[in-house]
Formats: sequence, structure tokens, C-alpha cells
Amino acid sequence: MAAATPRIIVVGGGLAGLSAVIKIAEAGGKVDLFSIVPVKRSHSVCAQGGINSAKNLKGEGDSAWAHFDDTIYGGDFLANQTPVKQMCEQGPAIIDLLDRMGVPFNRTPEGLLDFRRFGGTLFHRTAFAGATTGQQLLYALDEQVRRFESEGKVKKYEGWEFLSAVLDSKGVARGICAMDLRTMETRTFPADAIIVCTGGNGAIFGKSTNSVVCTGSAQSALYQQGAYYANGEFIQVHPTAIPGEDKLRLMSESARGEGGRVWVPKDKNDKRAAQSIPEGDRWYFLEEWYPKYGNLVPRDVATRAIFKVVYEHHMGIDGQPMVYLDVSHLPPASQHKLEGILEIYEKFVGDDPRKVPMKIFPGMHYTMGGLWVDNQQRTNIPGVFAAGEADCSIHGANRLGANSLLSCIYGGFVAGPAAMQYAKSLPAQEGDGGAAAELARQNEFNKILLNNPGTENPFKIWRELGETMTKHATIIRYNKGLEEADAKIVELLDRYRNVNLSDKSQWANTSFAFTRQLWNMLQLGRVIVQGARLRDESRGAHYKPDFPERNDEKFLKTTKASFKNDAPAFEYEDVDISHLKPRPRRYDAAT
Ligand SMILES: Cc1cc2nc3c(=O)[nH]c(=O)nc-3n(C[C@H](O)[C@H](O)[C@H](O)COP(=O)(O)OP(=O)(O)OC[C@H]3O[C@@H](n4cnc5c(N)ncnc54)[C@H](O)[C@@H]3O)c2cc1C
Repeated sequence: MAAATPRIIVVGGGLAGLSAVIKIAEAGGKVDLFSIVPVKRSHSVCAQGGINSAKNLKGEGDSAWAHFDDTIYGGDFLANQTPVKQMCEQGPAIIDLLDRMGVPFNRTPEGLLDFRRFGGTLFHRTAFAGATTGQQLLYALDEQVRRFESEGKVKKYEGWEFLSAVLDSKGVARGICAMDLRTMETRTFPADAIIVCTGGNGAIFGKSTNSVVCTGSAQSALYQQGAYYANGEFIQVHPTAIPGEDKLRLMSESARGEGGRVWVPKDKNDKRAAQSIPEGDRWYFLEEWYPKYGNLVPRDVATRAIFKVVYEHHMGIDGQPMVYLDVSHLPPASQHKLEGILEIYEKFVGDDPRKVPMKIFPGMHYTMGGLWVDNQQRTNIPGVFAAGEADCSIHGANRLGANSLLSCIYGGFVAGPAAMQYAKSLPAQEGDGGAAAELARQNEFNKILLNNPGTENPFKIWRELGETMTKHATIIRYNKGLEEADAKIVELLDRYRNVNLSDKSQWANTSFAFTRQLWNMLQLGRVIVQGARLRDESRGAHYKPDFPERNDEKFLKTTKASFKNDAPAFEYEDVDISHLKPRPRRYDAAT
């Protein structure tokens, strides 16, 4: 018999995870919530620019359908359309809910919610709280979850890392195996269903705009246990980041949404300070090439344009891979709305972007692919659900800015009730449901890793992985390079077996935890590069100069990778195009 009160494990306390928790607790379920970092430090806290919803408060004729059309078109028709349509229809109600929870959204002088423009749409559709929208949303949901926690409906395991699912003899999830990152204790936890909301996988690319816990390790562990990983080859490079020694820092699309302009000097030998170069001597290439959308073309389009300017026209600032993102001409009121990101730039670069144009370059930013899910957020492992950046749904071949926060909340709101419904009809488990065997498997892995007498430094392996991925699997892809990248990852996997941990302690051993994750990153790296190798077309963020056109006949398909014989095996699934007929995606034309 199924339990009267379902017990659901939610892994991840970002916007997707917290949304799922709220829905489960509201429906009378109990939740064990696992997160590597305190949930309020989840990567969602970094989100800057805003959250989309077609409320049409500016009377521009915006609608859920227009939002749906922009999202599908922006994603180059690779997203399954039914969930995208539902998300866009629910968008306005989600914003109203967040508003009622007390999110301090910016307002117009009349007191209405304010909306700014973001990439890939001509409407003002993005609600925002200054330039710290993610933080405001996360804290609002966190307050709700704390209320349920105080009522005994939610128990938090912060500082615990999900290692794997506990699967019974029929392959049904019966819980998880997790590690306490302080004591390094490994334990199993029973559950009637699990929801995986573990975010993106930017760390596979070394430096990215993501926080360091975005390794994709949990998704990869599940993939190695039998879950499909879908559209792995689709990752997003954001056009406007600032490079740093440790990571890349995002200069949000909100800068362009508030009127920021991207340019380079018309004369590449122009040595004047940027602010002294008169307008007539500047090349606003996005505005010239894409007159309708201008600086607010989708990210894949803007990124490739910047690449073209730098590497084909050799027009990067001072011959370097950099272009200007300029908000210095904006009135103080508009600059004020960007304060959060302007402070970041000033702090890390030293110049005041209110007066001096910012120097930026594209950087790895977002994971469109992820665990394969159906319209109920179910993976193919019974009892395992996924939501947020960790799943493959909604964004297709390219995500539109400000659609992620909405998709995370929408995904959590669907996954929570779906997991509850599933749990209510789950047959009782036999024996321990596979817990002892899974615990033994994970402990064995730990033992081998800790006692390995090898010579390889895991951080060096990671650096080489990041360099390989960035070189071959980001903006421009060639089959030869992708094959080289796969061969390199095979070499790194081999070297991993000879890894040596300098720190073998059993207390808060972060390099041990990281080295565990590295194995999973390497496996997922192969999914990304092999998936890209096989897709001989260009679609959204996946661009191959040797196959410059989209090929719907062969590749209007979801890529599904499964782990067979220690390597990815690929199959393809038709995309749901039941609402919109695919059409050419041309931001340079007035379609
Ligand atoms: C700088 C930046 C700015 C952005 N701005 C915007 C924006 O303005 N608008 C927009 O729509 N999108 C934006 N995005 C994208 C958006 O922030 C993310 O896609 C979104 O927040 C992801 O939320 P999530 O809930 O899926 O995962 P996350 O917020 O990444 O949370 C993942 C959770 O999983 C936990 N976790 C991970 N692995 C494990 C494990 N193995 N075991 C246990 N716990 C684990 C983490 O601790 C964390 O709690 C931005 C992204 C970046 C990088």
C-alpha cells in the first residue's frame, strides 16, 4: 500500500526546487529538501534582469500566444510546444502570485508593475526587481518554505549532496543516496518520489557565468543510472560577460533592455578613450545588421555577431576579443534600475560604467538540455521527476532571456503535484528497495577515490576539460574539433582513474566532493560533444559553419542520450509541433 502522506525528496533549493516544495506541502505531502548550499545561496540568487510574463500592462497588444510564439521561434522550434504554451498561459498568474508574496517588483509612477524589454521580443514583457530579481524571488519562496518547515511539513538537508537514486529491482526510485559535506557521511533516504532541481552544468566548461555548484553532477549520475539526457548539445553562450581569473561575470541583458548599445570603433586603430569617440565614429553592428530587434536580438544571434566582428572583421577593441556595451548615455533613472550589475562591473573592472562604456565578451551561461522529461516533468526512471535548468524542456535550441525564472517556477509547480499523484499510487516496496546495495556502491567509490595512489591532479583534469569544451563546443562547432574533444575527454576519464587526492581528510573535504563530481562532469561532457557531432545542421545556439542551415527533415528532433557500455548512445524523438508550424528564423528580416 502507498503511504497515506507521501514523502517526496526534492533535490535542489533554487527557484525550481522551492516551487515544487511549496506545491507538495500545500497538497499535504512531506518533503525532505536537499541542497549542497543553503537554499538561499542557490544559484537562482544570481539572476539579475527579470522574469517574463505577458501581462500587457503597457497596452502593446502582448498576449500569452505572442509570448509562446516568441519562445518557440527564439528556441528555433526545438522545444516541445505544449508545455511552453502552458507556461506562457500561466505566466501572468505566476507574477501575480509572486507580487502577493511580497516580491518588490519595480513599479511605474501609477503604481502598476513595470516591465522592461528583453531579447527576442518586441514587447515590454519582463517584470523585474532592479537588477536583483532572482534574489527577490528566491527569498520570497524561501519564506513560504520556512513557514512549511515550522509546521513540520518540510525538513531541510542543507550541506548534503545527492549522489544517486536508490532504485529497486524493477528500476523504480525508492529514495536517494546522499553525502553530508561536513562529516562526509554517506546515507540513504527513503522517498515515494524524487524531484531533481539541481540547475545547470556550466562548470563543465571551466569558466562560466554560473556559480561553482552548477556541475551537472546529479543529472549525470542519473543519466548513468538509466535516465535519458536530452539535447545535451544545446548550451547558451551569453553575449555580454566580463572575463575574470576565477569565473565570468554576467552583464545582464537588462542593460540592453534599458537602452544599452553594443558597438566598436569604426576605425580599429582608433586609440581614443571610448567615451571620447563621437557617435558617428562608432559601429553599432547589431543595430545595423538587425534593424528590427537591434541590440535585443536573441543571445545566440548577438553572440555570433560579436564573434564575427572580433574574429572575421578583426574589429575587437585594441585588437582584443572585446566589444563595448554602453549604458553611459542612459538617464540616471534608467541607470539606477541597473545598479546591481553596474556595481559588479565597477568592483571587478575598476571603471564606472555610468560614465565609461563596459568591455564585454561572450561566455558560457545556460544549459538548455537536461534530464529528459515529459509534460508532467517525469523522467523515464519511474519516480524521478526533474524541473528547472536541470531538465530539457521549454527552451529548445536557445533560451530567451528572462524565460528561465518563469520556466523554473512553472516546472516546479507541475513537478510537485505530479510527484504527489504518482506517490499516491506507488506499490509498497519490497525489502529495503535497493538502499543497502546503493550505499555499498557509493561507499566503494569513495574508498577507491580516497585510497587511490595515483598521480593525477583532479583540478588539472577539470581545467583541461573546461578548455576543451570551451574551444570545441561553444559558439562555433566543427566535426573535427568535436571528435578531438571527445577523444580528449576519453583521455581525461582514463587519467581520472589515476587521480590522487592531496587532501584525504574525512571532514568538510571539498576537493574530495569536487573530484567525485568531476567524474560525472566528464561523462556529461561526452554527451554534449557527441550530441553536437551528430547534429549536422545549425539551429539556435548550435552553429556549424559546415552545415549553416537548419535541417528540419533530419533534425527537428529531440536528442536523447542514454548511458550504454560506459558511453553515450543516441536516439531521436519527434518534437511536439502541434500548435505552431516551424518557419525560418530570421531576425535580420522583418518577419
Ligand atoms: C548571472 C546569471 C543571471 C541570470 N539572470 C536571469 C534572469 O534575469 N532571468 C532569468 O529568467 N534567468 C536568469 N538566469 C538563469 C537562471 O538564474 C537559472 O536558470 C535559474 O535560476 C536556475 O534555477 P534552478 O532552480 O533550476 O537551479 P539553481 O538555482 O541553480 O539551484 C540548484 C540547486 O541545486 C542544488 N544542487 C545542485 N547539485 C546538487 C546535488 N548534487 N545535491 C544536492 N543539491 C544540489 C544547489 O545547491 C541549488 O540549491 C541567470 C543566470 C545567471 C548565471
